[in-house]
Amino acid sequence: MNTINEKLQPILNTVLHRNAGEAEFHQAAREVLESLGPVIAKKPEYFDEALIERICEPERQIIFRVPWIDDNNQVQINRGFRVQFNSALGPYKGGIRFHPTVNIGIIKFLGFEQVFKNALTGLPIGGGKGGSDFDPKGKSDHEIMRFCQSFMTELHRHIGEYVDVPAGDIGVGAREVGYMFGMYKRLNNRFEAGVLTGKSLVYGGSRARKEATGFGTAYFVRSMLDVKGVDVAGKRCVVSGSGNVAIYAMEKIMSFGGKVVACSDSGGYVVDENGIDLDLVKQIKEVRRGRISEYVELRGDGCHYITGGSIWDVPCEIALPCATQNELNGRDAKTLVENGVIAVAEGANMPCTPEAVDLFESAKVLFAPGKAANAGGVATSALEMQQNASRDSWSFAKTEGRLEEIMANIHTACHETAEEYGAPGNYVVGANIAGFVRVADAMRALGVI
Ligand code: GLU
Repeated sequence: MNTINEKLQPILNTVLHRNAGEAEFHQAAREVLESLGPVIAKKPEYFDEALIERICEPERQIIFRVPWIDDNNQVQINRGFRVQFNSALGPYKGGIRFHPTVNIGIIKFLGFEQVFKNALTGLPIGGGKGGSDFDPKGKSDHEIMRFCQSFMTELHRHIGEYVDVPAGDIGVGAREVGYMFGMYKRLNNRFEAGVLTGKSLVYGGSRARKEATGFGTAYFVRSMLDVKGVDVAGKRCVVSGSGNVAIYAMEKIMSFGGKVVACSDSGGYVVDENGIDLDLVKQIKEVRRGRISEYVELRGDGCHYITGGSIWDVPCEIALPCATQNELNGRDAKTLVENGVIAVAEGANMPCTPEAVDLFESAKVLFAPGKAANAGGVATSALEMQQNASRDSWSFAKTEGRLEEIMANIHTACHETAEEYGAPGNYVVGANIAGFVRVADAMRALGVI
């Protein structure tokens, strides 16, 4: 377990006390604070207790009731959240998650991560996150629409292209963003394209936004391997999840010549030794909105499905957790290391437990934390804002080219920062310090606000 600098311990204590019971937020804050020891040792001017404490305290937290009527004419009540964490670098920016596990602690952890992630992109975006404990699974299209409209009926007064720009996350894709944008437009009587990102291409979305998070994760893996003189081509790869991030991480890894042999959803995982058939996964998940268990029936021989279990039991050289927080624990990390994994990159937000990260570090496995490896999604959201602001629409190639460049810059920043602060090869330390320094510099310039 990493230790925390004694000067930072009181700040962590305040976070734990002030946010009692919010385990995921504690985990995220502890990880960042643990990384800051070398900054304080090397550049004491960054030890501004009040500033670090402010970084750990959201600027604003909004919690609201979301009533809606289901298809049986029953009134349902959910809870909505938006945590506006830090706007030193730009308007709050971050996705909206619809999942039954959502609570204030989860949204706060995601918002906190988002602050540093967004800083790493080098683009002018602050950090925030929102969501609801609404479960989209099994809901009809009309129910989804009514929920989104009710959610926006409250949220609209807190957001805006210069204020706070939400997007998608788990359970929220182009369909939900569309329903929310429609309601925002109606309530405000203005076509404010830049108020939400992840929009459909037909009314102001950006090309390559859908693919961006997964593509970006694959680019980051390629950069980490490049440093070691290793090629993605021919490597066995396991990707958890089968949503937007997983699908496009698989696609890019395959285009680099990697062989993806397994993916999953919350019900179980599928192993296909011939290589995952991505068109089939897209058909099941993007078109039918079905379960990954259907893959085996549709694909035929050479593959199998395991209900429950751990996808990390499948031997691989590259592991990309792209499902959800804390999905890969110490046991899984041990198995992966024993099976010869060489690189792990977090496509999801904080999918590896602290114990798993420690194991990867001590086994010298290349490990990319989510705030660096999955930053391509939000970076491309910022490119969508740019296109909306200039009333322009870029080609796929131009947008992907910018994404590739941004991911390369993030990799360089993490790598060089880790070296500068005496932790060569440690991308967790590199990402946390590089993100922190950017946010701290902007906050100091703005005075105590
Ligand atoms: N939800 C994504 C993330 O975790 C994207 C956020 C955005 O595009 O604003 O970074």
